[in-house]
Amino acid sequence: MTFANVARASRRLIATRPTQVCTNCSPGGAEPAPILRSQHLGWRITCPLCGDQLRGPGKREIPSPFQQYRSAALRDEKLLDDEAERGIGTWTSPAEIARLLLMRRIPRPFPREDDLWRFRVLGAIIPDLDHVVAEQGENLPTPAKPILPLHMRPALLAGVTIVERAGPEMLQMLSGHMMGDNRVRFTNAAESMMARNRIWKASSQMHLI
Ligand SMILES: [Zn+2]
Repeated sequence: MTFANVARASRRLIATRPTQVCTNCSPGGAEPAPILRSQHLGWRITCPLCGDQLRGPGKREIPSPFQQYRSAALRDEKLLDDEAERGIGTWTSPAEIARLLLMRRIPRPFPREDDLWRFRVLGAIIPDLDHVVAEQGENLPTPAKPILPLHMRPALLAGVTIVERAGPEMLQMLSGHMMGDNRVRFTNAAESMMARNRIWKASSQMHLI
């Protein structure tokens, strides 16, 4: 199985080991089932072959606390799939947005120092996130390896959809939730995405002429 043709920005979203399974396409049994490509893809919540909901390791189904975001999440699943597998982008790279959304943010009022680790930019757009993370003691992954556990994944996917729909201005707004070096890193990344957007717009206008 090769991932060499996957777009560069999306490679961080590929797990080194299978992290999920479709019980329809890999029913299991006495024989060890072959590993399917989709088992490594950190942006999938459904099986690309049959459309069934993927399940986590051990085929357990953990209900997602983000069910209400399912349709937004499915839209981003497609955006990320188009980017990774077919090199089709929109005004931005959905995989890059996923990374930015996992950076730390500083909420107001300022929390206790011990609690700072759990606040991510994503929580500024998905209001239930802070609460769920606190309740489950779930430490979300860092932007370096932005693969969320399956039941948390709809929140990140929906967050990317919201930013993608809102456009570059939303990135500017989100930088207001950050401080210090993190804010600089976020702003720099957002600016380079916006620059790419201008080039993208210019080139798509060229195609129209
Ligand atoms: Zn399947």
